[in-house]
Amino acid sequence: MQHTLNESISYVGRGLHTGHKVAMRLRPCEVNSGICFVRKDVSTGRGMIPARWHNVVTTRLCTVIGNEHGVQIGTIEHLMAALRGCGVDNAIIELDGPEVPIMDGSSEPFVSLIERVGTVSQAAPRRAIWIHRPIAVCEGEKFAVLMPDTTTRITVEINFAPSAVGHHRLSLELVDDVFQTEIARARTFGFADQIQELRKQGFSRGGSLRNAILVDGDHIINEEGLRFRDEFVRHKILDCLGDLALVGAPILGHFYAYKPGHELNNALLRQLFYETDAWSYLGVDEFDRLIGVHGPPAGGEAADTGKARCSNKN
Ligand SMILES: [Zn+2]
Repeated sequence: MQHTLNESISYVGRGLHTGHKVAMRLRPCEVNSGICFVRKDVSTGRGMIPARWHNVVTTRLCTVIGNEHGVQIGTIEHLMAALRGCGVDNAIIELDGPEVPIMDGSSEPFVSLIERVGTVSQAAPRRAIWIHRPIAVCEGEKFAVLMPDTTTRITVEINFAPSAVGHHRLSLELVDDVFQTEIARARTFGFADQIQELRKQGFSRGGSLRNAILVDGDHIINEEGLRFRDEFVRHKILDCLGDLALVGAPILGHFYAYKPGHELNNALLRQLFYETDAWSYLGVDEFDRLIGVHGPPAGGEAADTGKARCSNKN
């Protein structure tokens, strides 16, 4: 069944890029609403932005969604990952500023807030997106693919020149509390030699060693070190899950990406909603019943074709 929050949650924090202090309130919402952001500091009726892939307007360093009134909300990905990871299908996220608080740079504080109030089952079934055949996008050497699988799996590979980050590959089946134990605590990261320039360009103004890992060549500047030996690839998985949550349903399939980023992730979702014969919506019970009995269902059941046109980068 679909789930929403048991009660509202309030929090005040700063945005990573704007540095602005923002008051945030997560509220329960009725079935089939999805996740919807609302800017409370703009005039009534102009601040609503559904958290959907076709509302993504910028992907440089974070995922930003916007609406037809030019209202935007940035750095939504860590909160979106937490909501998906905790099984929250429907919620309203109110903010009085342009960016979601960065918390400690991971999804764990959002998970803690959600788990503190709990979630409640609603009177409508959850549906999932079942991948029938591979969908891929690439950009130079980077690529992202959604492939058929009988579970929800994610594999991400990173390869950064600074040796403190380096080359890592991690593959996880997203069952039970794997998101909470293996992914949610992984923090965002940045590079010391880029900070000055980024701040000049208006990024990372709220960044500090309390909300990001700072890498300088072959060493980590944060005194406490890393939370996982491979925290960087785990955070990339977190980012991918937050971006994939913008499809508005769990994905039954295998997401595989090499050197992913927010732009590539959004390109993949645009391709997914362009190739609507490559997948279908399926109730989770129906999925369990069909596995090993009938094979993938015939295509053409996709109800939400979105507004996007092909951004095929194959
Ligand atoms: Zn991130």
